[in-house]
Amino acid sequence: MLNATDYQKIVFFTGAGMSAESGVPTYRGRGGVWNKYNWEEYACQDAFDREPEKVLEFHELRRNAVLKCHPHEGHAVIAALEKQHPQVIIVTQNIDGMHQRAGSKTVIELHGSLWRMRCPKHGTFEDIGETYKSKTCEKCDRRLRPDIVWFGDMLKQDVMHAAMAAIGTCDLFIGIGTSGVVYPAAGFPQIARDNGAYCIEINPEASPMSDIYDRNIRETASTALAGLFASGGQKPF
Ligand SMILES: [Zn+2]
Repeated sequence: MLNATDYQKIVFFTGAGMSAESGVPTYRGRGGVWNKYNWEEYACQDAFDREPEKVLEFHELRRNAVLKCHPHEGHAVIAALEKQHPQVIIVTQNIDGMHQRAGSKTVIELHGSLWRMRCPKHGTFEDIGETYKSKTCEKCDRRLRPDIVWFGDMLKQDVMHAAMAAIGTCDLFIGIGTSGVVYPAAGFPQIARDNGAYCIEINPEASPMSDIYDRNIRETASTALAGLFASGGQKPF
């Protein structure tokens, strides 16, 4: 058990394992989406420029797969904590919006979202549902693309800055379901640790980053988070 009130600022850093527990198909690794689909045809700007409809259809498949899934208890524990604690920030590698569906508000999405479209001139637009509502910008008629960091795309600077600022000033850092081998995310636990945060890894399997953490919990996200923050399932802390 942790007493969340002992900490001023809590950062949850979540990766594919967090969503996989809800049944969301993963992208990388065994059985991942990229074993079935060639990303060069579906997830890069070149593919979108060549065959936008094909790329959008692929992303609609991903949206439908996500809509069949539901946030698990781990998502709920984090969302409940945010309601009662002044500074809870989620930094996620996931694009599926599961944290928001569970009720979380402060979510920094490193890789964008399946539920937003982007005009090169007018920014991003929320677009929720099985199919895309708009494929062109209402203001300028330019084609909208999913607001997702595809292969070959740079991470957005402002998003990265927000993530680094949160991680560099938190005093409790909890990494969940992320193998943590892809930079810049791989550096996050070290940044938190260098700034004196207590660092907990939640992952059923060890990762190359495990040694950086103060504590490793080899359980699923829902079990571990309920154990850390919930008391008898009544209150998150
Ligand atoms: Zn526009």
